[in-house]
Amino acid sequence: METEFDVVILGSGPAGLQAAVHAARTRARVAVLGRVQSSALYKAHIENYCCMDETVSGEAILEAGKNQAKKFGAVLLDQDVLHLEQEGSGRFSVRLESGDSLLTWAIILAMGVSRNRLNVPGEKELLGKGVSYCVDCDANFYRNQVVTVVGNGSAAASGALKMLLIAGETHLVCDALEISEHLRYQIESSRIEVHIGRQVRRILGDSEVRAVLLDNGTEIKTSGVFIELGAKGAIELASGLGVALDSDTMRFVAANKKQETNVPGLYAAGDICGPPWQIAKAVGDGCVAGLEAATYARRARTGAARA
Ligand SMILES: Cc1cc2nc3c(=O)[nH]c(=O)nc-3n(C[C@H](O)[C@H](O)[C@H](O)COP(=O)(O)OP(=O)(O)OC[C@H]3O[C@@H](n4cnc5c(N)ncnc54)[C@H](O)[C@@H]3O)c2cc1C
Repeated sequence: METEFDVVILGSGPAGLQAAVHAARTRARVAVLGRVQSSALYKAHIENYCCMDETVSGEAILEAGKNQAKKFGAVLLDQDVLHLEQEGSGRFSVRLESGDSLLTWAIILAMGVSRNRLNVPGEKELLGKGVSYCVDCDANFYRNQVVTVVGNGSAAASGALKMLLIAGETHLVCDALEISEHLRYQIESSRIEVHIGRQVRRILGDSEVRAVLLDNGTEIKTSGVFIELGAKGAIELASGLGVALDSDTMRFVAANKKQETNVPGLYAAGDICGPPWQIAKAVGDGCVAGLEAATYARRARTGAARA
């Protein structure tokens, strides 16, 4: 197996695959890690991505992206990364789950985020059948229907306000509302039915969501459940390299307009850099990160050869 690369990309979602296409087209030696099946996009149905006039499955987009990256010479390895380290020479060592290690001049972190779950019965079974973690992505599927948004923070409150413009009836279920005064005023003066001090115990339905059951026994008949409990980036891996997080939330990797982190040679792209969690942003970040990382690697390799 080839073990020396210019750019190693952690993640084969839209950010990682787009980065691979742009980096590989500069003739950089590129490896892409992770599995498309673990991408947030894999089970989604997309209708808001540019130039698509019909709904397309996330799986189909990712399969096409994989083939495209391979066509330009990227090496795709269906493996997760367990450990990252920087050597004295400036190169990074990337340990894979197989136990093998790769050496690379630049790394792109594109590992996405894991959505915080409610962990109630029905949530996993009805994902994509009425359960969603993204108002921006799926709101339109619930035009004139009844929806329930779950969560305490500003993502849930502003998600409920967005849904109100589209859905027929909107419920917000929260333990407590931890939001700004302005947002609270907007919620209180809207038609949203707020179930404060309540928790969802179960999501009901067979082939699609029918209702949510609250801890006080109330059943809200609903077609869509939006779980807006926030997300966390897969940043533990990078923290050993001293990667800085965004100062607002401390949950995402901080990257500048070149997708550079504070560690030279280490770039980040896509959901791991924070919201909005959308393909369009992920591929935009990926394009910039791919080009910048390839340029960095070329300079670092040439500099090392001269030294
Ligand atoms: C149900 C649902 C519906 C959605 N609908 C839409 C929509 O309609 N429109 C829209 O624009 N967006 C939508 N999204 C959001 C969109 O899918 C994400 O914004 C996008 O996938 C983010 O891309 P990414 O490459 O940053 O991360 P992801 O696509 O999540 O990819 C992360 C990759 O990192 C890999 N990885 C993780 N850990 C490691 C590791 N240790 N080592 C190596 N690899 C690792 C994973 O295997 C995966 O390949 C939806 C998301 C969900 C969940």
